[in-house]
Amino acid sequence: MTAARIDGKAFSEKLVASITVRVAQLKEAHDIVPGLAVILVGEDAASEVYVRNKGERTTQSGMRSIEHRLPAETTQADLLSLIEEMNADDAIDGILVQLPLPKQIDSHAVIQAINPAKDVDGFHVVNAGLLATGQDALIPCTPYGCLMLLIDHIGDLAGKHAVILGRSNIVGKPMAQLLLAANATVTIAHSRTPDIPAICREADIIIAAVGRPEMVRGDWIKKGAIVIDVGINRIPAPERGEGKFRLTGDVHYAEAEQVASAITPVPGGVGPMTIACLLRNTLVAACRRRGLSSDV
Ligand code: NDP
Repeated sequence: MTAARIDGKAFSEKLVASITVRVAQLKEAHDIVPGLAVILVGEDAASEVYVRNKGERTTQSGMRSIEHRLPAETTQADLLSLIEEMNADDAIDGILVQLPLPKQIDSHAVIQAINPAKDVDGFHVVNAGLLATGQDALIPCTPYGCLMLLIDHIGDLAGKHAVILGRSNIVGKPMAQLLLAANATVTIAHSRTPDIPAICREADIIIAAVGRPEMVRGDWIKKGAIVIDVGINRIPAPERGEGKFRLTGDVHYAEAEQVASAITPVPGGVGPMTIACLLRNTLVAACRRRGLSSDV
């Protein structure tokens, strides 16, 4: 048996296409153009690539992209005052501060300074609390993307046993809330959990979000399980030439595809869903602030 490959790139393109249609309708009917502001502090190369991609995709979908590139020595007070300005700016619907931030800045304080109605990353405690209590929240993009892929692939998740590897605020915890809300039975494992392979073997669904290259092996997976690989790890690839790297997930793909019924590749699985969900959140934020339906 070889697992079906869950094509996150194709799914995300369809989602972005439907967002683009809705954005055009908003412009036509209400003269509204949703605006997404992204703040990058410092010169981290990976963050630079993410921010550029986000800006391009935002513009392609018909929304307005506002980018602020601040020097690495920016103070917390300066960053907070920029956020304050954006909170008050009616043309800005979404505010995203690219993480990680330089050491002198407290990420938690920065995230909590964002108006929850514009918190398109869904990291503010108000959005985390709304999600945990089953109310309308802006939902963190990566776990929301994983949920969409799962529902698209298997439909109803009720009664499925999902094992999530990782308990970060960005992926693991909101993933658990989303799966609970979808009536799955959820187990969360982390670095202090003993015998993770045995726990994984009980799972109908495995979500791997640990940041450990190829940690999940084929013999951890129950036959026919679905595997969602969130991990993005850059590892040396001498076979591609000296000093070259390649991206790999938290799952050993070649082994897993022999056992699982479906699996997301890295790259091309969860990654593209994250940006698509960010655009969706920006559209949702723009509509909610004005009491309009977002309908995507
Ligand atoms: P964090 O480092 O914040 O969290 C990692 C989690 O994995 C922690 O809960 C940690 O446990 C747990 N963990 C680490 N090592 C082990 C281990 N050996 N056994 C069991 N659990 C372990 O990472 P993120 O949640 O931010 O990201 C996880 C991965 O997902 C990374 O590879 C990241 O690059 C990727 N990612 C991908 C995105 C995408 O768009 N596809 C978006 C966001 C992240 P503990 O809490 O005990 O320390």
